[in-house]
Amino acid sequence: MRRNYIGGEWVEGVRATPNVNPSDISDIIDHYAAADSAMATRAIAAARAAFPAWSLATPQQRFDALDMVGTELLARRAELGDLLAREEGKTLPEGIGEVARAGYIFKFFAGEALRVPGEVVPSVRPGLTVEVTREPLGVVAMIAPWNFPIAIPAWKIAPALAFGNCVVFKPAELVPGCSWALAEILSRAGLPAGAFNLVMGKGAEIGSALLDDPRVDAVSFTGSVSTGKRVAEAAMKRLAKVQLEMGGKNPLVVLDDANLEQAVEVAVQGSFYSTGQRCTASSRIVVTAGIHDAFVARLAERTRALVVGDARDPKTQVGPVVDASQLEQDERYIAIGKSEGATLVTGGERLARDKDGFYFSPALFTGCANDMRICREEIFGPVATVILAKDYDDALALANDTAFGLSAGICTTSLRHAAHFRRHAQAGMVMVNVPTAGVDYHVPFGGRKGSSYGPREQGRYAAEFYTTVKTAYIAA
Ligand code: NAD
Repeated sequence: MRRNYIGGEWVEGVRATPNVNPSDISDIIDHYAAADSAMATRAIAAARAAFPAWSLATPQQRFDALDMVGTELLARRAELGDLLAREEGKTLPEGIGEVARAGYIFKFFAGEALRVPGEVVPSVRPGLTVEVTREPLGVVAMIAPWNFPIAIPAWKIAPALAFGNCVVFKPAELVPGCSWALAEILSRAGLPAGAFNLVMGKGAEIGSALLDDPRVDAVSFTGSVSTGKRVAEAAMKRLAKVQLEMGGKNPLVVLDDANLEQAVEVAVQGSFYSTGQRCTASSRIVVTAGIHDAFVARLAERTRALVVGDARDPKTQVGPVVDASQLEQDERYIAIGKSEGATLVTGGERLARDKDGFYFSPALFTGCANDMRICREEIFGPVATVILAKDYDDALALANDTAFGLSAGICTTSLRHAAHFRRHAQAGMVMVNVPTAGVDYHVPFGGRKGSSYGPREQGRYAAEFYTTVKTAYIAA
């Protein structure tokens, strides 16, 4: 049984939760100890107690700790990538890539610990100097979703620690394995006891203990819109700093002048890789009239040919859906799409494989209207919708007609349209001739409208959330 990590000690939980392989539900990876709210409260107290020491640790100490974690993640990418694929259902290359990304994130923020921004400027008044510095916030509670079991924990934990905060981290209950492995590495990184704490368990059971405690200075959340709103309400009630990364309904615009093969590849990757379970997945493909039929025919052919199977089989291109309830949700939306009058060109069915798992064929709907539920609500599965647009202006309007605003893509050879789209797409990230999903680790990540709230994550912009600014006036 893998235990919680609280105040520098491994702590038993109130019950054992099995971690089930979605490619083979007879394969129980391990059991993980679920924490209760009393344990979450203990973790907060431990983080509070560690804050004086960690907030005053030298940049060198912080660099060394984060650099060690990054080095170990990179060295163990094959082993931990296998664990990731086994617990979440991403393919092995995707799992290994995600662990490497987490390693580089720790390396990046090790460097940021040495480069905490600040400035000294002359005062407008004679004889005064003004110094602007950044200080840590205190204790940060973090709540993560299941679809990036190690990258999202890394991009929250690394900047928090780099800037001198202490952490209470709660992974998603479906994927505790990678978070536990990361906690185990952190337990050997030379942090003061309590600077990092892992509490595994259900959001409904320990969420309030994390969100309502006045000793928690800030909350960083990634997950669904409905949970995000609850998190924000709880944080606002006591004026805690809060950051939310939530869902998407990301458009990929394909114009008549696009390179057809490239556009199809961009759509296939963006819509179906990682089983479509990405907040940045291309779930609405908006296609102009001149290329529509040729594009749809080729995309359907490519979609049908995708190999769905065990996440760790080298032949697999699309792994299983994460669990039974997500699979049911995907099926529900297939039925909704049909009842709304969209044409299901291919996929949308449960698949049987040698082992019993949550296999589902990638689904392509055409003839969709942007006001259909399948075009407005996040499905979070391998389901793409194609919407016909009259021309570029119509396509841009359709792309922006959504409650979300995370990522938006365009496939075109027109410099003018690409430039116009970059400026006018209402999204936090814009992709030109590349999939809407798939981002670098050293630049800001996040969206607008219903997708995100608060400062950006990742890159140098992470300092906005994980530090507070102090302005000092000094007389000579
Ligand atoms: P979810 O909202 O169900 O759960 C997210 C986390 O919140 C989990 O750890 C869960 O235990 C916790 N939680 C649940 N109820 C809670 C409560 N009452 N109080 C506190 N915590 C609570 O989301 P999910 O199904 O794990 O993840 C899928 C969602 O995440 C999708 O909507 C996806 O778009 C989104 N996501 C967004 C990004 C992004 O950066 N924008 C990245 C990945 C995933």
